[in-house]
Amino acid sequence: MTIQSINPATGESIKEYTLLENRELRPAIKATHKAYHSWRKTTIAQRATLMREAARILKTETHDYARLMAEEMGKPVKGGRAEVEKCALVCDYYAEHAEEFLRREPVANGNTKSFVTFEPMGAVLAVMPWNFPLWQVFRFAAPALMAGNVGLLKHASNVPGCALAIEDVFRQAGFPEGAFRTLLINNKQVAAAIRNPLVTAVTLTGSTGAGRSIGQLAGKYLKKSVLELGGSDPYLILEDADLELAVEKCVTSRLINSGQSCIAAKRFIVVESRKEEFEQRFVERMKQAKMGDPMSEETVVGPQARPDLRDELHEQVQASIAKGARCVLGGEIPEGRGAYYPPTVLTDVKKGMVAYHDELFGPVASIIPVKTEKEAVKVANDSVFGLGAAVFTRDLKKGEWIAAHELQAGCCAVNDFVKSDPRLPFGGIKESGYGRELSYHGIKEFVNIKTVVVGQ
Ligand code: NAP
Repeated sequence: MTIQSINPATGESIKEYTLLENRELRPAIKATHKAYHSWRKTTIAQRATLMREAARILKTETHDYARLMAEEMGKPVKGGRAEVEKCALVCDYYAEHAEEFLRREPVANGNTKSFVTFEPMGAVLAVMPWNFPLWQVFRFAAPALMAGNVGLLKHASNVPGCALAIEDVFRQAGFPEGAFRTLLINNKQVAAAIRNPLVTAVTLTGSTGAGRSIGQLAGKYLKKSVLELGGSDPYLILEDADLELAVEKCVTSRLINSGQSCIAAKRFIVVESRKEEFEQRFVERMKQAKMGDPMSEETVVGPQARPDLRDELHEQVQASIAKGARCVLGGEIPEGRGAYYPPTVLTDVKKGMVAYHDELFGPVASIIPVKTEKEAVKVANDSVFGLGAAVFTRDLKKGEWIAAHELQAGCCAVNDFVKSDPRLPFGGIKESGYGRELSYHGIKEFVNIKTVVVGQ
């Protein structure tokens, strides 16, 4: 079986890749497991040297990786370069901090000696999405490898070139053969990989539907799992918000990665007294975003990653309009080739509409008017998702309280948008998944937290 990578800006085929045969899967996993036996015995300092080399390669070839992402999934090159730099950052971050994060913890409990040690688990399978084809993988791989695990990657079917390029970064950096392996496999073969006793854990970043499927398999075969799933992040604009700041941050967040980010601002919940002004400024600012060729430095919004995803997004917009939402910007599929969808603003969005409940994974903003701040929080939490959220107010004390205690999400911002940062834990609650990536917390997900007690 084969898969093809297709340039979403032109519809042209880039390259065809042959998938692994079922019979090739088991030996591939076995080879990775073999690498694990020697890799786990390396010191953290030895691993750090290789991880720093991976970072160096990324920094040297930033432009090439950005172009590869632009070709395979339409990411504007400017954003692509920033993504590659962030991958280098996460490699350097764990190279620097893994020793401290994984340091043995002595516990005084009356025995001669007791301590907690953090041991690697084995081969971790990562099922990853196309939207940040490099970042999503490096943010899993850097801590997992530094902890002494080995990695198996099943990447999204539309970015096989990126998947193989990542494997190559680790190979070039000097990681032993098999320590990080890309498996070109389909979704059905993922089940066989999870079932394999040599795979000890699985992490998925992707949609809630895929999360349910992988979560079920992980449960069935009793494999540790982390799920980073979808979101419909609410951004609350309170009565005392600085609207200039709010609009700037909200538009930036909504349009990051051409609107295809799990933590993009998606629902804008605006207190009625500021709604008209917010909406007008927001639309003006969205209009300025240049849509076009992802290879151009000026482009803010590139094509959507695949035509079917663009069409699905348009259907969600149409369904919301049919239920009474008003489209005040965009909402039309442009003529010509490429999977383009313009920056779009839906307003007067209400409960019962697709734009209120579902994730709109593209450059479409939903403005939801509310009467009071209390109602704003209620609407924000009236969602199956709980990934990110933000609140805009000049009263920082109030903002902090709402962010810390009232919003149901894994990451909240006050007067800013939510972004991932190697130093801070990242992940969701509710149907946005479970477990955490990044920071001290992320590296602890795939280790055996082992208690050792020495009697006398
Ligand atoms: P997706 O369709 O769920 O795919 C994600 C990965 O899972 C791909 O490798 C896909 O492979 C695989 N997959 C899908 N269904 C599967 C199944 N039943 N069994 C095994 N593997 C399966 O998601 P996407 O369209 O690539 O990405 C967009 C979604 O990811 C959005 O919902 C977004 O919010 C979410 N996301 C979440 C985070 C986070 O950190 N929380 C970050 C980024 C994206 P194929 O490509 O071969 O189908």
